[in-house]
Amino acid sequence: MKRVLIVGGGIIGTMHAILAAEKGFAVTHLERDMKPQSASVRNFGLIWVSGRRAGGELDLALRARSLWATIGSCAEIGFRANGSLTIAQSENEYTVIQEAASMPDAQKRGFRILNRIQTLALEPELAGNYAGSLQCTTDAAVEPALLLGGLREYLKSFPEYTWIPEFEVVDFYHDENGNHVSDISGRRYSAEYIALCAGAAHKGFIESFLEKAPLRKVRLQMASTAPLGATLSHSLADADSLRYYPAFKDLSLALLGAQSEIATQFKMQLLLVQRLDGSMTIGDTHEYIEPFTHEIDEAPYDHLRGVMNNIFGREVPRIEKRWDGVYSQSTSEEIYIRREIAPGAHIVTGGGGRGNTLAPAIAEETVEQWSL
Ligand SMILES: Cc1cc2nc3c(=O)[nH]c(=O)nc-3n(C[C@H](O)[C@H](O)[C@H](O)COP(=O)(O)OP(=O)(O)OC[C@H]3O[C@@H](n4cnc5c(N)ncnc54)[C@H](O)[C@@H]3O)c2cc1C
Repeated sequence: MKRVLIVGGGIIGTMHAILAAEKGFAVTHLERDMKPQSASVRNFGLIWVSGRRAGGELDLALRARSLWATIGSCAEIGFRANGSLTIAQSENEYTVIQEAASMPDAQKRGFRILNRIQTLALEPELAGNYAGSLQCTTDAAVEPALLLGGLREYLKSFPEYTWIPEFEVVDFYHDENGNHVSDISGRRYSAEYIALCAGAAHKGFIESFLEKAPLRKVRLQMASTAPLGATLSHSLADADSLRYYPAFKDLSLALLGAQSEIATQFKMQLLLVQRLDGSMTIGDTHEYIEPFTHEIDEAPYDHLRGVMNNIFGREVPRIEKRWDGVYSQSTSEEIYIRREIAPGAHIVTGGGGRGNTLAPAIAEETVEQWSL
């Protein structure tokens, strides 16, 4: 049986482990922390097809969405095909989402325009002041708190899968016997194939391999509210999201008018996903210039609550938790970064704000290159 080493217990590494184990490889999975604590457990858990760039990126997202549905039926990860509503709070925003619903690939994305009454019929909690919404039936969600543990539980059904936490890789080399990694104390693992999925850890032993890669880090601020006291059947976004997602770049975005000062300052949109316990994960801001401040700012949360209050037509539950997270993002036309650094050894990162969405399809593209 051929061996695969996966470095990194985030969603990209874990999906590589799954796709490799399902193909029949013996998989050893290394993670530096006791439990992964980076982007993959700090995110919304959204599988967000709606915003993907037309063409290859959308196709990859749809492939991933299909793999998510299959994996979600095997593993306890809270997968749900709940879809999303992008809410237009003004008539001008409504004109733009109507345009979105007529894009050539709108059907592929599962887009449907809903006026306010139709939106309210689907989501009775959205009793506020808005013109309508863009439904996307291909969007879905998972529970970040369950995700990686649930996937590793599933991986236990493969006898040749081994999970090794608290193993920080500090060195990689390739020789005639294959690919090798080691930690600071000299413990070593070797395999025919290796995927280095270290997320935003661009430094250390990885740095030299990523030297010219078009990558940056992005920091986001997030929060979660007390339980809503009712169930939402969709994830939500506001029309600021249309400004950021490449799917919408050719629409009449000028009609959206000027963004609010706070949203502009923090490069914000409202994204909202209800957790299985009834709370709502909300965000997000975007910070691109390092070193990051690591401050949690009050103003963006006031802004988000204002937008939510307007959409829900009432005071939404208070914020209970706040955190931030950092992801690695490709800054070129490459959807994500994969580099073969030695025969059978790949670095995979840079999925950006769509890394969770695309993870299974990214992993599939790597594993397809490895033969049994
Ligand atoms: C706040 C936030 C919200 C987001 N929301 C969404 C969303 O809703 N939908 C979406 O599609 N995407 C979202 N993203 C993006 C998505 O979360 C990331 O693209 C994705 O999680 C990246 O996964 P990863 O496995 O590459 O990285 P990580 O999750 O960072 O995992 C990398 C792992 O590698 C380990 N590691 C690093 N170096 C070593 C080493 N030397 N040895 C051993 N282990 C090592 C780390 O400890 C870590 O566990 C969001 C990101 C953030 C930060």
